[in-house]
Formats: sequence, C-alpha cells, structure tokens
Amino acid sequence: MTDPTRHAATSVPVFTMGPAKRLLIGGEWVDAVSGGTFESLNPATAKRLPDLAQGNARDIDRAVAAARAAFEGPWSRFRPADRRRVLLRLADLIEEQAETFAIIDSIDMGAPITTSRWLVGAVVDTFRYAAGQAMSIHGDTIENSLPGPMFTYTRKEPVGVVGAIIPWNGPLYAASWKIAPALATGCTIVLKPAEQAALTPLLLGELCEAAGLPPGVVNVVTGAGDAGSALAEHQGVDKVAFTGSTATGQRTIRASAGNVKRLTLELGGKSPHIVFADADLEAAARSAALGAFMLSGQVCAAGTRLFVERSVYEEFTDEVAQIAQSLVLGDPLQEGTDLGPLVSREQFDRVSGYLDAGVTQGARALGGAADVTDRALADGFFVAPTVFTGVTQDMSIAREEIFGPVLCAMPFDDVDDALRQANDTPFGLASGVWTRGVGTALEVSHGLRAGMVYVNNYGSWDPAVPFGGYKMSGYGRENGRAHIDAYLETKAVWMSGGSR
Ligand code: ADP
Repeated sequence: MTDPTRHAATSVPVFTMGPAKRLLIGGEWVDAVSGGTFESLNPATAKRLPDLAQGNARDIDRAVAAARAAFEGPWSRFRPADRRRVLLRLADLIEEQAETFAIIDSIDMGAPITTSRWLVGAVVDTFRYAAGQAMSIHGDTIENSLPGPMFTYTRKEPVGVVGAIIPWNGPLYAASWKIAPALATGCTIVLKPAEQAALTPLLLGELCEAAGLPPGVVNVVTGAGDAGSALAEHQGVDKVAFTGSTATGQRTIRASAGNVKRLTLELGGKSPHIVFADADLEAAARSAALGAFMLSGQVCAAGTRLFVERSVYEEFTDEVAQIAQSLVLGDPLQEGTDLGPLVSREQFDRVSGYLDAGVTQGARALGGAADVTDRALADGFFVAPTVFTGVTQDMSIAREEIFGPVLCAMPFDDVDDALRQANDTPFGLASGVWTRGVGTALEVSHGLRAGMVYVNNYGSWDPAVPFGGYKMSGYGRENGRAHIDAYLETKAVWMSGGSR
C-alpha cells in the first residue's frame, strides 16, 4: 500500500493537471491547426493526464518555418559564448525544478522516482557539457600543395534545422540529448515527443524561453507517427536525430532520402551480458538483474541476454532470479519502488505476448517481483520481472527486442563460444563482461560487435563518453565530441592572396 510519508508527490505538479497542452511554435503556445487533441494516460493508474495537441504535417510545416526563421535570424547572431550562457542558464533552470521534472516523468511514463531523479541529473550534466562544447568548436588550417600564396582552412558550421523524434522511455532525457547539441552548435530544432509521454519535453520548452532563447530556436510539436514522418520527410529539415525502434528508424532513413538529410539514429538493442566463472559473482548477479530490469526493461541498452559460463550457470541464474523476486513493483512515486508499470496497455500486451511465447517455445520462467497489491494501481500496466532459462538462440525471446522486464539466460563454454553467441544478433548497442582475468576482459571487449562494452560494471554513463550502436542499433553517437560533430557541417575555404 502507498505510504504517504514516503511518497514523492506531496503536492502533484500543476503541469500534470488542467486543460489540453498546446504546441510550442515560434515562441507561441498554439493549438494544432486541426484543433485536435489526444488522450494521455498515467500508466500506473490508467487515469487520464492532460490531453495533448494532435500536431500533424501542417503543424510541422509551421514549426519548420519558425525554426528556419530563427536559424537565419536572431539565433545566427549568438556567438559561442552567448550559446554557452543560454545552455548554462537552461541547466540551472532545470536543476531548480529537478524534483518537479522527476515527478512529472514518473507520472507520465511510470519510471520509479529514484530513476527519474537520476535522469534529471543526467540532463543537467548534458546541458553543462554541451555548454563547454559550444566554445570548443573549431576547424583546421590545412597546408595544400598548390602554387602561390594560398592556404585552406575549414569552418564548422551548424547543420541547420534539426528534426528530433524521440521515444517515451525517458522523455526529458531524450529531449535533452537532441536539444543540447543543437544549441551548442547553433542549430534550431523541431522536437516531436512520443505520444505516450510528452509532458516534460513541453515543460522544457517553457524553460527555453526563460533561458533567453529567441522564439523559434526550440519548437515542440506533439502528435502521433504521422507528425514524426512529416518531420522526417520535410524538405526544410537539414538533419533528423531519431531515437526509437529499429523499424521506425528504417522508415526514417527512407523518408530522409528526399533531400538527403543528415541522420543520426539510436535504435533498438538485444545486449549481451557475459559472466565468467572467475568473476565477482555477487556483484555480477546484481548487475545482471538491474541491467535487464531497470525501468522495467524499457531501455534500449538493457542487458537482456545473459550468458553465463556453464560451471556456474545454475547457481548464477537462481541468484539473479532471487534478486528479481526481491524487487518492489509498485507506485513509481513511492520511495523504495524498484519497478513501475510499463508505459501503456499496448506495451503491456506486447510484453505479455513474449512471456507466453517464451513458455510455448520451451523456456522455463523463473518468477519475479510480488504482484502489486495497492488497489489504486489495479488498472496499471505492471509486469513482474522474469528470468527465462533453457533459452535457445532461435527463440523469439532471444532474438527480438522485447522492451519489458524479461531476461534470457544461456550457458557458454569458453571465450569463443561466448563471443559467437553474444554477437549472434542483428543489434549491437551495449554489452557487458564480468571476469577477473585481464586477458579475458580484453579479448571479449575487443571481440564484441557493440558500441559500448562495460567491464565489471553495466550501464555507466557520462556526458563525455560516446553512446550509440553498431549494426541495426543505429549510427552516430550521442554524448561526447562525436555528438556535437553530428550537428555540424565542414566547409573548406580556399584562401588565395590573389596576384601581387
Ligand atoms: P516505440 O516502439 O518506442 O514507440 P517508435 O519508434 O514507434 O517506438 O516511436 C518513437 C518515435 O517515433 C515516437 O515519437 C513516434 O511517434 C515516432 N514515429 C512513429 N512512427 C513514425 C514514422 N513513421 N516516422 C517518424 N517517426 C515516427
């Protein structure tokens, strides 16, 4: 039952109440051209949150025009130090309202409050990192081999109007991963949040103005997939930064062909977590459970395939299942809750389908957390974590991204076998390896086809360290220097002194 003394929302943020939210276009809060709105639910209770404006292609047109006008107008006169100042101010404003942001994300998409708080901290760090990067952008001076007094230099220029399409599993965080590099480089942006959870991106839009950004630099258009595809296709958009499923990412690639947009894609994963018998097994078991079940598995980098050296396979998977059982499933706003609900009924049905498929295909399910007993949450989309053993590589639970609290455990015999199984996937986002052997750690880290390898840890994060995938997990990197580069064009300038 809910304990009022340990409940984060002593007063519910007003932003989660009231009339339908509007679109932020050119510095104005406006209704969708169609006048339409759509429903948004709190996934823990299935109760309604404020409706959202149903933006469509016409709203995207307006927002892109506003972003273009700002790009060519007032925003182009912001020097690197001005952009840094705005980014630092934005970070401060978010930090001042950190608890409000965390509570809203927890209400909107079901993340446990401790996770939401961590994510808001990461968002603040992201903006501060980008602020530093704003003043570190520079080209090169290049010696060429042509005769005459002539030299070449390169300029790094903002790519232009960025269309950003984001998912629901970390709405504020995903929004900041697009807005921060856009502002650092001098781009403008049209952000299309996910239909399931758009409140914190809208609140962030409010703060952008307060931070001193000219109108039209950041625009936020809520809506469904058609608004996303209108943005991906738009001839006035120079780059699309997309985070979401691999299938929609592929559609975005096709849509971008019309004007050969720059693209960065952060897509799905089926990340391997490899545990050797010589590892610190206690720490590894905790890491395996949290790496798979954090945010109820709704994390692109979740370690959802667990490979355990055969000699410790049984005992280790039992230990992970016991940890899963000890996790507290419940009200995201209650301190001490480990797992909240999945984001929507659709996601609940999808994950339940995979749980049934696992059993039908012959895997054995080791049960997870106790059911939610709070009657206020009876209609919420809760799924207890499950560890599947007896999994084979051909099962759909071992191959497809489930995006729920489902971990597939499989044994391996040696380094080659571990690498062969771990790399047997179309994805290549994250990976983890636990061992005390330096040689094994190196061999496995270098052999894994994945954008991130965590050795004796999992899911660590820093704004300076690149994040992104190999293979069908996407291309481009977020965080770090590469993130900033992805929002810049390189121009070569040939300077001749002319004839004397
Ligand atoms: P998920 O399964 O995580 O909901 P999606 O990839 O479908 O993943 O959604 C991620 C984002 O992509 C959301 O903002 C969604 O509205 C948007 N989206 C959905 N369909 C399209 C599309 N055809 N083109 C561009 N964006 C889309």
